[in-house]
Amino acid sequence: MILILLGPPGAGKGTQAKEIARRRNLVQLSTGDMLRAAIAAGSPVGLKAKAIMESGGLVADDIVISIIAERIAQPDCANGFILDGFPRTLPQAAALDDMLRAKKLSLKTVIEMKVDDEVLIDRVSGRFTCANKSCGEGYHDRYKKPRKEGVCDICGSTAFTRRADDNAETMRNRLTAYYKETSPLVGYYFAKGLLQSVDAMAGIGEVGDAMNKLLDAPSGPTAAKSSSK
Ligand code: ADP
Ligand code: AMP
Repeated sequence: MILILLGPPGAGKGTQAKEIARRRNLVQLSTGDMLRAAIAAGSPVGLKAKAIMESGGLVADDIVISIIAERIAQPDCANGFILDGFPRTLPQAAALDDMLRAKKLSLKTVIEMKVDDEVLIDRVSGRFTCANKSCGEGYHDRYKKPRKEGVCDICGSTAFTRRADDNAETMRNRLTAYYKETSPLVGYYFAKGLLQSVDAMAGIGEVGDAMNKLLDAPSGPTAAKSSSK
């Protein structure tokens, strides 16, 4: 199964992608995580991406497209993957179509996660993440605390990090980039009959239940029927 979680920064894509990946034996592919790893490693891609990410802009299409192309060729992606944060522009979506077509693969669905802007700012400002690179579980100061304070529920690590771009000012730029560059993908996937939406204002568990219902539904997205004329 190949799916895309589409939504603004802080919508809950990473939170839900991790849970769906665990339940369904899929791989979560977050271009944001991959770029942060490139920055930490001091690689040429990381050097190009650093300032752009700090400002809240989008990294160049050719960079993220080649990162994803390389990653989906890895054997662990054979059972399927969840794209979290990619594609973010129309050229990225077209490149993904080409990559999948070349591999004779197809997208199962694109789930749009809808959240009001004020809530997004509240979500990213309370976000923190397990610092263990092979875990990276996401938490929130109020909405998702570790069961035992200071200890990751998943891997037991006691080290956590906060993202430099999770502040109100950078968030304004990230939201602008989302509405300008990424939101056109809603229409792009609707027209392909692949789009489904969830109300991601609800709690983490409720949003997860809604997504699982969509993923377990025997028939395709309802949008498919109305848009494939
Ligand atoms: P994204 O990957 O879309 O940027 P995250 O999954 O990292 O977003 O979620 C952003 C923050 O909001 C995290 O701290 C996460 O724990 C929290 N969060 C995610 N989903 C919800 C939700 N439905 N309700 C409240 N908080 C949430
Ligand atoms: P995220 O972790 O998804 O919130 O992404 C963090 C930052 O990484 C974004 O604000 C962008 O600067 C960059 N980024 C992540 N994914 C992409 C992408 N698909 N295209 C361009 N830039 C990206």
